[in-house]
Amino acid sequence: MADKIKTILKKFKIWRSFQLRLLIIVFLMGIIPSIIMRVGILENYESRAVDVRISDVQTQLRIIANHLITYNYLQDTSSEVIGAELEQLSNLYNGRVLIINGNLKVVKDTYGISDGKTIVSEEVIRCIKGKNTVNYDSVNRFIEITMPIVETVTMPDDSGEGAKEKELVRGVMLTSVSTDSIANTLDILNRRAIIMGNIMFIFIFALAMGLSRILVRPFERVTKAISEVKEGYTDEPISVSDYLETEHIVDAFNSLIKRMKVLDDSRQEFVANVSHELKTPITSIKVLADSLLAQEDVPAELYHEFMEDIAEEIERENKIINDLLALVKQDKSVAELNISMVVINELVEIILKRLRPIAKKSNVEVTLISKREIVAEVDEVKMSLILTNLVENAIKYNKEQGKVEVLLDADHQFFTVRVRDSGIGIPPEALGQIYERFYRVDKSHSKEIGGTGLGLAITKSAVQLLRGSIKAESVVGEGTAFTVKIPLTRTLV
Ligand code: ADP
Repeated sequence: MADKIKTILKKFKIWRSFQLRLLIIVFLMGIIPSIIMRVGILENYESRAVDVRISDVQTQLRIIANHLITYNYLQDTSSEVIGAELEQLSNLYNGRVLIINGNLKVVKDTYGISDGKTIVSEEVIRCIKGKNTVNYDSVNRFIEITMPIVETVTMPDDSGEGAKEKELVRGVMLTSVSTDSIANTLDILNRRAIIMGNIMFIFIFALAMGLSRILVRPFERVTKAISEVKEGYTDEPISVSDYLETEHIVDAFNSLIKRMKVLDDSRQEFVANVSHELKTPITSIKVLADSLLAQEDVPAELYHEFMEDIAEEIERENKIINDLLALVKQDKSVAELNISMVVINELVEIILKRLRPIAKKSNVEVTLISKREIVAEVDEVKMSLILTNLVENAIKYNKEQGKVEVLLDADHQFFTVRVRDSGIGIPPEALGQIYERFYRVDKSHSKEIGGTGLGLAITKSAVQLLRGSIKAESVVGEGTAFTVKIPLTRTLV
């Protein structure tokens, strides 16, 4: 049932409004206590007024009851003093007094209707036995009170020596007093309370409307600020610090914007870099070709030389394009990974075998230290890409007669490949940037040795695809060590 109501409520969009809920809460919080107070005060007034009336009448009755005994009224009703007292009482409280003797006979009725009649009501009989009774009839608006007429007589006690006092009920006073005045006051109070209630209703409603509007405003400001960013009027960080909550939303939004900006900037920078990198070889080719064309009777050797340069530039262009393609392909998805069990030691040996001739050219010695056999769940192509790039760099950025050492090790979760060289090193301030696309510490030197600045970017992204990490340590002039740490199995995160 509750779920049903919930689904129905969910259908009404307006019900999901925070402002509406706030309005209802504030309104109820204002109106419920005021209703409770109204009912409470009125009921309290009634019971208190009735209590006071009862106690007043009882006091009067008690006095008159004494007088009744004193004047022996039960036997002789001629006393004018008592008559006047009874009259006064019935006038004062707009009531009726019946004096009933011990035989349950009415000796006096201030209304003069029941004189001489016998009354056998339950209350009267109970009162004869010495019990006062009080009945409040709120519907017919009267209070019925009975009061025993008690005579105190002195009797000899049981031992016959002393005397003791005894109270004997000689008759009953049966009184009914009207509560019209109380009811009238209650009516007036009730009417006023209703008017006040209505005024309060309007006031609280207006207050709730205003409050809910004001309280919701910061959220509207957040929406407006976000819309402005969305529409593109501004890309400045927004600020709505009215509430801690809005501040949190805005902070989250600002960091999202910042991230998007970084991504956008890096995309733009990437496009600019790509264009620049691709343009450079083309410019060289054009210059070479133009200078050939500008000369007449160019000797064949010069032709040959220039054509070699042109071929070199084309080769460079080709390399950049291949690297770019590798990078873009890698960015695509993890789904394209081709995971298999690979014996890393064997893979490294194959790669080193392939790279040794290049190392030999610059007299660099490459050694492999395998601490243990490593079999890991990796993508073989990606893994060889990582290893090739790192070892190639270690050879490229080395010195004459330099050394490259590849160290393989593993624990029960990860395997590590450390490629250490005795080369030129990387300055500390550049260490953070070497993974950026097209970043080169020494542009001209890197270009000279055929670098595109994309190798480490490709390497890092491949390492990340294999859920691993890469770290570089370097001392300028002494060498660099790259450590790659990759989980042995894919189930490990
Ligand atoms: P490149 O194609 O220019 O080698 P990489 O992305 O592979 O591009 O490397 C980025 C830059 O980091 C290189 O230009 C080089 O300056 C520096 N670098 C990379 N590896 C080494 C290394 N082993 N020793 C010294 N410098 C290195």
